Amino acid sequence: MKTLVIDIGGTKFAMALFDGDRMARRESRATDRTGGREWMVTNVETLAREWMPFDRVAIGFGGPVNFATQVIATSTHVGGWQGFPLTAYLRDALGVPVIMDNDANVGAIGEAEYGAGRGADPVFYMTLSTGIGGGIYSNGSVWRGADSFAGEIGHLTIHPDGKDCLCGARGCFERHCCGLWLEHDYGEPAFELLKSPQFVDGYVEDLALGLKACIMLLNPARIVIGGGISKAGDKLFVPLRDRLRKNITNWSGARINVVPAALADDSVLWGALSLARSL
Ligand SMILES: [Zn+2]
Repeated sequence: MKTLVIDIGGTKFAMALFDGDRMARRESRATDRTGGREWMVTNVETLAREWMPFDRVAIGFGGPVNFATQVIATSTHVGGWQGFPLTAYLRDALGVPVIMDNDANVGAIGEAEYGAGRGADPVFYMTLSTGIGGGIYSNGSVWRGADSFAGEIGHLTIHPDGKDCLCGARGCFERHCCGLWLEHDYGEPAFELLKSPQFVDGYVEDLALGLKACIMLLNPARIVIGGGISKAGDKLFVPLRDRLRKNITNWSGARINVVPAALADDSVLWGALSLARSL
């Protein structure tokens, strides 16, 4: 059984071909955001045709996906995706079954089953990347909610009078903490900013506001953070855990178990392999 898996993000997209449970091939390219949906669909389709044959396709998409209808709800970072039935399009183009979910949900499956979340239940996975997304994994599956919007912590309000977010609200977790806006607000990419302990001190205050809400609501056994920013390692995670311990009073016995993703850039690819088994 050969499975093609696709991770569509606002900064890059990655594809891998699994032969059974073995990743046989992998490729990653930068996303041309200005090219919008058409650029991405053309690139994915062209590469997929080069990698044929395969038996099924699974996709993690960087934005809300209606899982029941398999239609993309929207993308706040790249234009042209609203209402696009990517699953049906690729099924017709490639002639194999296709399934898709939001990338944070797929990343949650990947980390829970193959990565840093193994042995913990429930797992909350957060992607800290171009944007911020979240996935709730428990009892062998993702909890998607009534409209596939569960886990969307990127648009929790952390500063009521904060900056305007692309979603139309203000002060969102994503607006103050994701890679896209950090670079916009500070003029440097996140990995450069995180070299400064002073920057990290302020940054973890905002991160802890969002994650506290998640801990209070879900009491996860473990929080796994993936995406480019999570690669900062201990210089981010040690002060983040300290900040969470200060914000969450002794009243709460909830554990503070926050770790970086173990699968690095491949959380979504491995999660997609698992998602494909439901086809
Ligand atoms: Zn927002």
